[in-house]
Amino acid sequence: MKLPASLQARVQALRVVSRPPHARGIASSSVSQRAVISSLNSFSGVTASESDDERVVRMLMFGKPGAGKGTLSARLTKKYDILSISTGDLLRQHINEGTEVGKQAEAIIARGELVPDDVMLKVVTSKLDCLQDKHWILDGFPRTLNQGKLLDAHLRKQNTPLTLVVNLNVADEVILNRVSDRWIHMSSGRVYNTSYNPPRIAGIDDLTGEPLTKRPDDNPEIFSRRLEAYYGLTSPLLSYYTSQATAPVSAPVASPCQHPHQVLLHRADKLALRSVTGRTSDEIWPELDYIIMSMFPGLRNRGDDVFSPKSQGFDNVVSAGTLSATVPPPSLK
Ligand code: ATP
Ligand code: MG
Repeated sequence: MKLPASLQARVQALRVVSRPPHARGIASSSVSQRAVISSLNSFSGVTASESDDERVVRMLMFGKPGAGKGTLSARLTKKYDILSISTGDLLRQHINEGTEVGKQAEAIIARGELVPDDVMLKVVTSKLDCLQDKHWILDGFPRTLNQGKLLDAHLRKQNTPLTLVVNLNVADEVILNRVSDRWIHMSSGRVYNTSYNPPRIAGIDDLTGEPLTKRPDDNPEIFSRRLEAYYGLTSPLLSYYTSQATAPVSAPVASPCQHPHQVLLHRADKLALRSVTGRTSDEIWPELDYIIMSMFPGLRNRGDDVFSPKSQGFDNVVSAGTLSATVPPPSLK
């Protein structure tokens, strides 16, 4: 699917216009548009019950490339007892370490295309399988309908279905401006933006003092391909999850030997889909935080201050190497 003509013109303009970083601000605090939860956000099918306290976060952070999936996942993992897995970060680590997956993925990512589904499934499940009874967020996976179905099948086998999909709804215009200002600290995945979240010293990571780099696929031309891939291949997942979230819950049949709470747990496991809209991660954060707090009241709070975007901690991000001691190396590694 092609980008709309107006966006193609915008991409073209970004190629030729080089403005100073601070002239490109898209996220000033004067932006009054407040993140709103769309009509998707009715809490249908989930009733308050004792089982709410036991509900497990198995969440997809869904959205366009550059929508802020990584930034918002990091804030959640900093605040709550949740782990996150970012497929983009995992792939970049594979590339850095020169693994087989990395060699296969490097050129594909550089072109702004998608890595094959079977490769991605192995990359993700090798990490996910270590998080069985933990709270987790997947950022960047699934990205195709087929990946979504493969993930569902995998989780179903383990009786750990998804409990929440959050769609970050950020306008294309905003994202196109944002990526050209984005710098990352490669080994941690920390993200900076020269307009609204600059590092303390230009070009240097706040925590390690190491140099920041540009992602090779964060240039307007490649980015427009990533956006096309989103519209063509990834966005159909939204209808897929909408139908799961809105499907009537089949009334669970309580067998005589079943405790009533088991029936409630069945109900609470129904997938919820929420959509949050905003121009910046700072605008979206309060709505997202509210969704998590209200849906998972039993979730442990780490008690840290998360309101400074620069305080993003990545200790809770599952990296390509983090679990290597506890997991047999994936066959593709
Ligand atoms: P952002 O990180 O800003 O949200 P993004 O979602 O496009 O943007 P990443 O998630 O970091 O970027 O992914 C970078 C690239 O890695 C993608 O463009 C794609 O080539 C590859 N990739 C990541 N996840 C997947 C996936 N689930 N399936 C296929 N390719 C993937
Ligand atoms: Mg990302």
